[in-house]
Amino acid sequence: MVPAITALVADDDKATAKLVEVLLNKWGIQTVVAHDGLEALEVMMQPAPPSLLLFDWEMPGYSGIELCEKIRQIDTTNPPYIIICTARDATEYIVHGLNQGANDYVSKPFNTQVLKARVEVGMRTLELQSRLVDAMVRLDHLASFDELTGLLNRRALFERIHEDFSRAHRAKDNLCFVVCDIDWFKRINDKYGHPAGDAVLRQLGDLLTQQLRPYDRLGRIGGEEFLLLFSVTTIDSAVKVLDRIKLAIEKHDFVYEDTHITATMSFGATFIEAGEQIARVESYFKRADEALYRSKELGRNCVTFSDNLV
Ligand code: GH3
Ligand code: MG
Ligand code: MG
Ligand code: MG
Repeated sequence: MVPAITALVADDDKATAKLVEVLLNKWGIQTVVAHDGLEALEVMMQPAPPSLLLFDWEMPGYSGIELCEKIRQIDTTNPPYIIICTARDATEYIVHGLNQGANDYVSKPFNTQVLKARVEVGMRTLELQSRLVDAMVRLDHLASFDELTGLLNRRALFERIHEDFSRAHRAKDNLCFVVCDIDWFKRINDKYGHPAGDAVLRQLGDLLTQQLRPYDRLGRIGGEEFLLLFSVTTIDSAVKVLDRIKLAIEKHDFVYEDTHITATMSFGATFIEAGEQIARVESYFKRADEALYRSKELGRNCVTFSDNLV
Protein backbone atom coordinates (compact mmCIF):
# COMPACT_ATOMS: atom_id res chain seq x y z
CA MET A 1 0.00 0.00 0.00
CA VAL A 2 1.24 3.50 -0.78
CA PRO A 3 1.76 5.39 2.52
CA ALA A 4 -0.17 8.66 3.06
CA ILE A 5 1.72 11.67 1.76
CA THR A 6 2.58 14.44 4.24
CA ALA A 7 3.58 17.93 3.12
CA LEU A 8 6.01 20.46 4.57
CA VAL A 9 5.39 24.14 3.85
CA ALA A 10 8.35 26.42 4.62
CA ASP A 11 7.75 30.18 4.33
CA ASP A 12 8.86 33.06 6.54
CA ASP A 13 5.71 34.93 5.57
CA LYS A 14 3.23 33.57 8.11
CA ALA A 15 0.13 34.56 6.12
CA THR A 16 1.38 32.72 2.99
CA ALA A 17 2.39 29.68 5.01
CA LYS A 18 -1.05 29.58 6.62
CA LEU A 19 -2.82 30.00 3.28
CA VAL A 20 -0.90 27.09 1.70
CA GLU A 21 -1.43 24.94 4.79
CA VAL A 22 -5.20 25.57 4.69
CA LEU A 23 -5.33 24.77 0.96
CA LEU A 24 -3.32 21.55 1.34
CA ASN A 25 -5.52 20.44 4.25
CA LYS A 26 -8.58 21.17 2.11
CA TRP A 27 -7.10 18.91 -0.59
CA GLY A 28 -6.71 16.15 2.02
CA ILE A 29 -2.96 16.48 2.63
CA GLN A 30 -1.65 16.50 6.19
CA THR A 31 0.74 19.44 6.49
CA VAL A 32 3.59 20.58 8.72
CA VAL A 33 4.67 24.25 8.67
CA ALA A 34 8.13 25.76 9.19
CA HIS A 35 8.93 29.49 9.22
CA ASP A 36 12.61 29.40 8.35
CA GLY A 37 15.15 27.17 6.62
CA LEU A 38 16.66 25.71 9.81
CA GLU A 39 13.27 24.65 11.14
CA ALA A 40 12.45 23.06 7.76
CA LEU A 41 15.74 21.12 7.70
CA GLU A 42 15.08 19.89 11.25
CA VAL A 43 11.72 18.51 10.15
CA MET A 44 13.45 16.75 7.23
CA MET A 45 16.00 15.13 9.57
CA GLN A 46 13.31 13.37 11.60
CA PRO A 47 12.39 9.75 10.88
CA ALA A 48 9.71 9.41 8.17
CA PRO A 49 9.90 13.07 7.05
CA PRO A 50 7.28 14.70 4.77
CA SER A 51 7.60 13.81 1.09
CA LEU A 52 5.88 16.78 -0.60
CA LEU A 53 7.86 19.96 0.10
CA LEU A 54 6.73 23.51 -0.76
CA PHE A 55 9.61 25.90 -0.14
CA ASP A 56 9.69 29.66 -0.28
CA TRP A 57 12.88 30.95 -1.99
CA GLU A 58 13.95 33.65 0.47
CA MET A 59 13.90 32.65 4.12
CA PRO A 60 16.17 33.15 7.14
CA GLY A 61 18.46 30.20 8.01
CA TYR A 62 18.54 28.50 4.63
CA SER A 63 16.89 29.66 1.45
CA GLY A 64 14.54 27.28 -0.34
CA ILE A 65 17.31 26.61 -2.87
CA GLU A 66 19.90 25.83 -0.17
CA LEU A 67 17.36 23.48 1.39
CA CYS A 68 16.95 21.73 -1.97
CA GLU A 69 20.71 21.15 -2.17
CA LYS A 70 20.90 19.84 1.40
CA ILE A 71 17.90 17.54 1.03
CA ARG A 72 19.21 16.09 -2.25
CA GLN A 73 22.39 15.09 -0.41
CA ILE A 74 20.40 12.85 1.94
CA ASP A 75 20.81 9.24 0.84
CA THR A 76 17.31 7.81 0.47
CA THR A 77 15.49 5.37 -1.79
CA ASN A 78 12.39 7.57 -1.61
CA PRO A 79 13.43 11.21 -2.31
CA PRO A 80 10.84 13.93 -1.65
CA TYR A 81 9.13 16.03 -4.33
CA ILE A 82 10.12 19.69 -4.00
CA ILE A 83 8.12 22.67 -5.31
CA ILE A 84 9.75 26.08 -5.02
CA CYS A 85 7.21 28.89 -4.48
CA THR A 86 8.51 32.39 -5.15
CA ALA A 87 7.92 35.76 -6.69
CA ARG A 88 11.28 35.34 -8.50
CA ASP A 89 9.88 34.15 -11.80
CA ALA A 90 12.63 35.26 -14.22
CA THR A 91 13.91 32.45 -16.46
CA GLU A 92 17.38 32.29 -14.83
CA TYR A 93 15.81 31.79 -11.39
CA ILE A 94 13.55 29.01 -12.64
CA VAL A 95 16.49 27.25 -14.30
CA HIS A 96 18.70 27.70 -11.22
CA GLY A 97 15.98 26.33 -8.88
CA LEU A 98 15.39 23.26 -11.02
CA ASN A 99 19.14 22.68 -11.40
CA GLN A 100 19.56 22.71 -7.62
CA GLY A 101 17.16 19.81 -7.22
CA ALA A 102 13.65 21.27 -7.21
CA ASN A 103 11.07 19.22 -9.12
CA ASP A 104 8.78 22.14 -9.92
CA TYR A 105 8.27 25.83 -9.58
CA VAL A 106 5.18 27.92 -8.72
CA SER A 107 4.99 31.72 -9.00
CA LYS A 108 3.70 33.93 -6.20
CA PRO A 109 1.07 35.26 -5.79
CA PHE A 110 -0.53 31.85 -6.25
CA ASN A 111 -3.20 30.95 -8.65
CA THR A 112 -4.98 28.35 -6.47
CA GLN A 113 -5.95 26.17 -9.44
CA VAL A 114 -2.39 26.09 -10.76
CA LEU A 115 -1.04 25.27 -7.27
CA LYS A 116 -3.58 22.46 -6.91
CA ALA A 117 -2.68 20.99 -10.32
CA ARG A 118 1.06 21.17 -9.51
CA VAL A 119 0.54 19.55 -6.10
CA GLU A 120 -1.43 16.77 -7.79
CA VAL A 121 1.44 16.15 -10.24
CA GLY A 122 3.73 15.89 -7.20
CA MET A 123 1.39 13.42 -5.48
CA ARG A 124 1.17 11.24 -8.59
CA THR A 125 4.96 11.26 -8.97
CA LEU A 126 5.45 10.31 -5.30
CA GLU A 127 2.89 7.49 -5.54
CA LEU A 128 4.56 6.09 -8.65
CA GLN A 129 7.98 6.32 -6.99
CA SER A 130 6.70 4.58 -3.90
CA ARG A 131 5.28 1.70 -5.99
CA LEU A 132 8.56 1.35 -7.88
CA VAL A 133 10.55 1.26 -4.64
CA ASP A 134 8.20 -1.44 -3.26
CA ALA A 135 8.63 -3.49 -6.45
CA MET A 136 12.41 -3.14 -6.23
CA VAL A 137 12.44 -4.28 -2.60
CA ARG A 138 10.28 -7.30 -3.52
CA LEU A 139 12.52 -8.21 -6.48
CA ASP A 140 15.62 -7.79 -4.35
CA HIS A 141 14.14 -10.15 -1.77
CA LEU A 142 13.17 -12.71 -4.42
CA ALA A 143 16.68 -12.58 -5.87
CA SER A 144 18.32 -13.42 -2.53
CA PHE A 145 15.87 -15.60 -0.62
CA ASP A 146 14.48 -19.04 -1.25
CA GLU A 147 10.70 -18.84 -1.55
CA LEU A 148 9.91 -22.12 0.20
CA THR A 149 12.00 -21.75 3.38
CA GLY A 150 12.63 -18.00 3.44
CA LEU A 151 16.36 -18.77 3.87
CA LEU A 152 19.13 -17.27 1.74
CA ASN A 153 19.47 -18.93 -1.67
CA ARG A 154 22.74 -20.33 -2.99
CA ARG A 155 23.89 -17.21 -4.85
CA ALA A 156 23.20 -14.76 -2.01
CA LEU A 157 24.64 -17.20 0.50
CA PHE A 158 27.95 -17.55 -1.35
CA GLU A 159 28.22 -13.77 -1.64
CA ARG A 160 27.69 -13.32 2.08
CA ILE A 161 30.08 -16.14 2.95
CA HIS A 162 32.83 -14.29 1.04
CA GLU A 163 32.24 -11.37 3.43
CA ASP A 164 32.06 -13.69 6.46
CA PHE A 165 35.46 -15.13 5.49
CA SER A 166 37.09 -11.71 5.36
CA ARG A 167 35.55 -10.73 8.70
CA ALA A 168 36.61 -13.99 10.38
CA HIS A 169 40.11 -13.64 8.93
CA ARG A 170 40.44 -10.15 10.42
CA ALA A 171 38.95 -11.21 13.78
CA LYS A 172 41.12 -14.39 13.81
CA ASP A 173 38.03 -16.58 14.27
CA ASN A 174 38.01 -20.27 13.41
CA LEU A 175 35.08 -21.28 11.22
CA CYS A 176 33.11 -24.44 10.66
CA PHE A 177 31.77 -24.80 7.11
CA VAL A 178 29.02 -27.41 6.77
CA VAL A 179 26.94 -28.93 3.99
CA CYS A 180 24.01 -31.07 5.13
CA ASP A 181 21.41 -33.09 3.27
CA ILE A 182 18.17 -34.80 4.35
CA ASP A 183 18.46 -38.57 4.34
CA TRP A 184 16.19 -40.56 2.03
CA PHE A 185 14.17 -37.46 1.25
CA LYS A 186 12.85 -39.01 -1.93
CA ARG A 187 11.16 -41.66 0.23
CA ILE A 188 9.46 -38.91 2.30
CA ASN A 189 8.09 -37.39 -0.90
CA ASP A 190 7.06 -40.80 -2.24
CA LYS A 191 5.37 -41.85 1.00
CA TYR A 192 3.63 -38.62 2.07
CA GLY A 193 3.49 -36.57 -1.11
CA HIS A 194 5.41 -33.55 -2.41
CA PRO A 195 3.48 -30.95 -0.31
CA ALA A 196 4.40 -32.89 2.84
CA GLY A 197 8.04 -32.87 1.64
CA ASP A 198 7.77 -29.11 1.24
CA ALA A 199 6.44 -28.80 4.79
CA VAL A 200 9.42 -30.82 6.08
CA LEU A 201 11.81 -28.50 4.22
CA ARG A 202 10.12 -25.40 5.68
CA GLN A 203 10.08 -26.76 9.23
CA LEU A 204 13.67 -27.91 8.89
CA GLY A 205 14.65 -24.38 7.85
CA ASP A 206 12.99 -23.05 11.03
CA LEU A 207 14.61 -25.73 13.18
CA LEU A 208 18.11 -24.99 11.80
CA THR A 209 17.53 -21.26 12.36
CA GLN A 210 16.59 -21.95 15.99
CA GLN A 211 19.64 -24.13 16.48
CA LEU A 212 22.05 -21.45 15.25
CA ARG A 213 22.95 -18.05 16.60
CA PRO A 214 21.58 -14.96 14.81
CA TYR A 215 25.01 -14.10 13.37
CA ASP A 216 25.69 -17.62 12.07
CA ARG A 217 25.13 -18.16 8.37
CA LEU A 218 22.46 -20.50 7.01
CA GLY A 219 20.96 -21.03 3.58
CA ARG A 220 19.33 -23.52 1.27
CA ILE A 221 21.72 -24.40 -1.53
CA GLY A 222 19.36 -26.63 -3.48
CA GLY A 223 16.71 -29.37 -3.13
CA GLU A 224 17.11 -30.80 0.38
CA GLU A 225 20.60 -29.46 0.92
CA PHE A 226 21.56 -26.69 3.34
CA LEU A 227 24.76 -24.85 4.18
CA LEU A 228 25.82 -23.68 7.64
CA LEU A 229 28.78 -21.49 8.60
CA PHE A 230 29.58 -20.59 12.17
CA SER A 231 32.55 -19.52 14.24
CA VAL A 232 33.96 -21.93 16.82
CA THR A 233 36.99 -22.07 19.07
CA THR A 234 37.99 -25.71 18.56
CA ILE A 235 37.13 -28.60 16.30
CA ASP A 236 35.70 -30.37 19.37
CA SER A 237 33.21 -27.59 19.97
CA ALA A 238 32.22 -27.74 16.27
CA VAL A 239 31.60 -31.50 16.64
CA LYS A 240 29.41 -30.81 19.68
CA VAL A 241 27.36 -28.14 17.84
CA LEU A 242 26.74 -30.45 14.88
CA ASP A 243 25.89 -33.45 17.08
CA ARG A 244 23.35 -31.30 18.91
CA ILE A 245 21.78 -30.15 15.61
CA LYS A 246 21.76 -33.70 14.23
CA LEU A 247 19.99 -34.94 17.37
CA ALA A 248 17.46 -32.08 17.33
CA ILE A 249 16.46 -33.04 13.77
CA GLU A 250 16.26 -36.73 14.58
CA LYS A 251 13.95 -36.00 17.52
CA HIS A 252 11.85 -33.40 15.76
CA ASP A 253 8.20 -34.08 15.04
CA PHE A 254 7.65 -32.72 11.51
CA VAL A 255 3.94 -32.23 10.93
CA TYR A 256 1.98 -31.98 7.72
CA GLU A 257 -1.78 -31.80 8.20
CA ASP A 258 -2.48 -34.88 10.35
CA THR A 259 0.71 -36.69 9.42
CA HIS A 260 3.73 -36.87 11.71
CA ILE A 261 7.00 -37.35 9.89
CA THR A 262 10.50 -38.10 11.14
CA ALA A 263 13.63 -37.18 9.24
CA THR A 264 17.37 -37.31 9.71
CA MET A 265 20.23 -35.42 8.12
CA SER A 266 23.80 -36.20 7.14
CA PHE A 267 26.51 -33.62 7.62
CA GLY A 268 29.82 -32.92 5.93
CA ALA A 269 31.99 -30.35 7.66
CA THR A 270 35.33 -28.67 7.27
CA PHE A 271 37.14 -26.73 9.98
CA ILE A 272 38.80 -23.52 8.82
CA GLU A 273 41.55 -22.30 11.12
CA ALA A 274 41.91 -18.56 11.55
CA GLY A 275 45.49 -18.60 10.34
CA GLU A 276 44.60 -20.61 7.24
CA GLN A 277 44.82 -18.78 3.95
CA ILE A 278 41.20 -18.14 3.05
CA ALA A 279 40.58 -20.03 -0.15
CA ARG A 280 37.60 -19.65 -2.47
CA VAL A 281 34.22 -20.54 -0.99
CA GLU A 282 33.91 -23.21 -3.71
CA SER A 283 36.97 -25.11 -2.48
CA TYR A 284 35.60 -25.33 1.08
CA PHE A 285 32.28 -26.33 -0.39
CA LYS A 286 34.00 -29.15 -2.25
CA ARG A 287 35.75 -30.33 0.94
CA ALA A 288 32.51 -30.27 2.96
CA ASP A 289 30.60 -31.97 0.15
CA GLU A 290 33.12 -34.82 0.00
CA ALA A 291 32.73 -35.26 3.76
CA LEU A 292 28.94 -35.29 3.32
CA TYR A 293 29.28 -38.03 0.73
CA ARG A 294 31.29 -40.02 3.28
CA SER A 295 28.53 -39.50 5.91
CA LYS A 296 26.06 -40.99 3.43
CA GLU A 297 28.39 -43.95 2.86
CA LEU A 298 28.78 -44.47 6.59
CA GLY A 299 25.04 -45.03 6.93
CA ARG A 300 23.60 -41.47 7.13
CA ASN A 301 22.39 -39.46 10.18
CA CYS A 302 26.00 -38.69 11.09
CA VAL A 303 28.65 -35.96 10.98
CA THR A 304 31.93 -36.31 9.09
CA PHE A 305 34.77 -33.78 9.08
CA SER A 306 36.88 -33.42 5.98
CA ASP A 307 40.03 -33.67 8.08
CA ASN A 308 38.96 -37.20 9.06
CA LEU A 309 39.11 -38.25 5.44
CA VAL A 310 42.11 -40.38 4.63
P1 GH3 B 1 20.09 -39.43 0.24
O1 GH3 B 1 19.96 -39.91 1.63
O2 GH3 B 1 21.14 -40.20 -0.50
O3 GH3 B 1 20.33 -37.97 0.19
O4 GH3 B 1 18.72 -39.76 -0.47
P2 GH3 B 1 17.63 -38.74 -0.98
O5 GH3 B 1 16.41 -39.50 -1.31
O6 GH3 B 1 17.48 -37.65 0.01
O7 GH3 B 1 18.34 -38.11 -2.23
P3 GH3 B 1 17.88 -37.97 -3.74
O8 GH3 B 1 18.90 -37.03 -4.34
O9 GH3 B 1 17.70 -39.30 -4.38
O10 GH3 B 1 16.48 -37.25 -3.69
C1 GH3 B 1 16.30 -35.93 -3.30
C2 GH3 B 1 14.86 -35.60 -3.46
O11 GH3 B 1 14.56 -34.28 -3.04
C3 GH3 B 1 14.40 -35.68 -4.90
C4 GH3 B 1 13.63 -34.40 -5.14
O12 GH3 B 1 12.37 -34.63 -5.74
C5 GH3 B 1 13.43 -33.87 -3.74
N1 GH3 B 1 13.29 -32.41 -3.72
C6 GH3 B 1 14.17 -31.50 -4.17
N2 GH3 B 1 13.67 -30.24 -3.98
C7 GH3 B 1 12.46 -30.39 -3.41
C8 GH3 B 1 11.46 -29.47 -2.97
O13 GH3 B 1 11.57 -28.25 -3.06
N3 GH3 B 1 10.33 -29.98 -2.42
C9 GH3 B 1 10.14 -31.32 -2.28
N4 GH3 B 1 9.03 -31.75 -1.72
N5 GH3 B 1 11.07 -32.23 -2.71
C10 GH3 B 1 12.21 -31.77 -3.25
MG1 MG C 1 10.34 34.58 2.05
MG1 MG D 1 19.07 -36.40 0.49
MG1 MG E 1 20.65 -34.09 -2.08
